[in-house]
Amino acid sequence: MSAKQVAFLDRDGVINEFVLEAIRDPDQFRYYDFTAEALARLGRLGLPVVVVTNQSAIGRGWTTEEIVQQIHQRLLKDMNSWGVQVLAIKHCPHHPEDGCRCRKPDTGMLEEAAEEFEIDLTSSVMVGDSVVDMQAADKLGMTKVRVKTGRGESPLPDGLQIDAHVADLSEAVDWMESWSSTSPSP
Ligand SMILES: [Mg+2]
Ligand SMILES: [Zn+2]
Repeated sequence: MSAKQVAFLDRDGVINEFVLEAIRDPDQFRYYDFTAEALARLGRLGLPVVVVTNQSAIGRGWTTEEIVQQIHQRLLKDMNSWGVQVLAIKHCPHHPEDGCRCRKPDTGMLEEAAEEFEIDLTSSVMVGDSVVDMQAADKLGMTKVRVKTGRGESPLPDGLQIDAHVADLSEAVDWMESWSSTSPSP
């Protein structure tokens, strides 16, 4: 099996509306008005998707593993209905002070997915709103697309170069449409 080119998507502030101090309840999980259309186009592009999301609200005791799983079952079902090939939805449940390897800007979730699904990270793209999304992707030599929704307008650290800074997920898919036609398939 040859290595795959994949779109990694952050969750909060990219796919669904950003909520200050975390989504703690399924009722707070709301898509943007462009989400369904954008993800349907991403599905037609044929790029498989892995969602990678920091959910320290679990480690902080603000929500539970069960609630996050419930939200992710809904997300998976919806993404499938929009025609997206979802390889996995991965979350880091840890508190920022736990010192885990999965919490972005660390690369554990990305590397674990790469191993499980034979993903070629250097030919894959990360779409995120937060600086940590861009930092994690940068460590692995991935293409980096930042959206301006959610936390997407905070300053980047000096020296961190990204490939695009677009309005939202819909524009990120526009960008990936031209990118995937020019980037070599592994
Ligand atoms: Mg985010
Ligand atoms: Zn973690």
